[in-house]
Amino acid sequence: MTSKPIYLDYAATTPADERVIAKMQSCLSLEGDFGNPASATHEFGLKAKALVGEAREQVARLIQVEPRCLLWTSGATEANNLAIQGVAKYYQQKGKHIVTSQSEHNSVLDTCRFLEGQGFEVSYLKPNADGRIDLKTLDAALRTDTILVSIMHVNNETGIIQDIEAIGKITREREIFFHVDAVQSLGKLPINLKTLAVDLMSFSAHKIYGPKGIGALYIGNWPRVRLQPLMYGGGQERALRPGTLPTHQIVGMGEACHMAAEVMSDEISRIQKLRKQLWQGIQGLAGVSLNGHPEYRTAGILNVCFNQRDRKTLLAQLSTLALSTASACNVGTEEPSHILKAMGLSDEAANCSIRFSIGRYTTEQEIEQAIQIIQGAYQ
Ligand code: PMP
Repeated sequence: MTSKPIYLDYAATTPADERVIAKMQSCLSLEGDFGNPASATHEFGLKAKALVGEAREQVARLIQVEPRCLLWTSGATEANNLAIQGVAKYYQQKGKHIVTSQSEHNSVLDTCRFLEGQGFEVSYLKPNADGRIDLKTLDAALRTDTILVSIMHVNNETGIIQDIEAIGKITREREIFFHVDAVQSLGKLPINLKTLAVDLMSFSAHKIYGPKGIGALYIGNWPRVRLQPLMYGGGQERALRPGTLPTHQIVGMGEACHMAAEVMSDEISRIQKLRKQLWQGIQGLAGVSLNGHPEYRTAGILNVCFNQRDRKTLLAQLSTLALSTASACNVGTEEPSHILKAMGLSDEAANCSIRFSIGRYTTEQEIEQAIQIIQGAYQ
């Protein structure tokens, strides 16, 4: 029997935690809480509605917002689409200019490209070589007809953290809405939306040991953000996101957030130690360099350029490690990462870069084994 590769791809997705799975299972069968949360006439529906409410509170607590500001979606791709298209369509009389960055996730970039086809204008800011967005560049890109800025919190390929506090101050002063894709920071960095001038924030459960297919959008109400929905139907979620609420998915996301709040600070320091262990073990190898800023980064992601190594040979040599060259979201492409290219890496350097992402179940032994496998590829 061949053993499974060592999983170092937690930024692509995480396994669901056992506690999450148990909670989800309790919402599926006849014996469980399977009711439709919108069935207000009987106990089954009322119980499911209460569970959805509890989960909304669990997510809200992790980011310090009122539960009613959260809307369930099918994931962050939908949350990003709803935030960006929703603002664009609702406020188009006010202006048709949007600012984002070249290093966003495709669910933001492709939504912006779609809107360009609908008569909107989009400025795509180039990050610095270290992956950070320059605040002066951002400020200079804003215009009187700018209605939205969309900048992610933590980059999914490099782990680089953007200064969303400072960006929010700039956008709030200019009365421009600010959307943040926080998929890679939820549960991994403290987020306090009470103190951040962020109007919209997108989340996904499957990066924090919850299930795939569920996410949420935070919609601020001071100043109030109005959105045009993407879909029309039964009026659920304030008619902004109609459709029967999937109780099992929702309680799974709630439980994942509840757990994240409990373990976050210990987990950050443990994972950070593992990342440092990995980097120490490989940084001395010929032609190896770190992609992105050395400090403004999340604990679990290490993006390394193995300069002048052939991508295919390197990946074959590292086949006992489950990792990723670009993000899993650039499905089926052999194209060099648009994120690394935006930071100024050549096609060749981007192509021989690898993302290692570490998570809750990664052990010191696994990191040590990974180091040996990588070192072995140099012999
Ligand atoms: N934004 C970022 C930064 C991501 O990493 C991902 C997932 N790879 C998404 C958005 C899309 O999230 P989902 O899988 O929930 O649609």
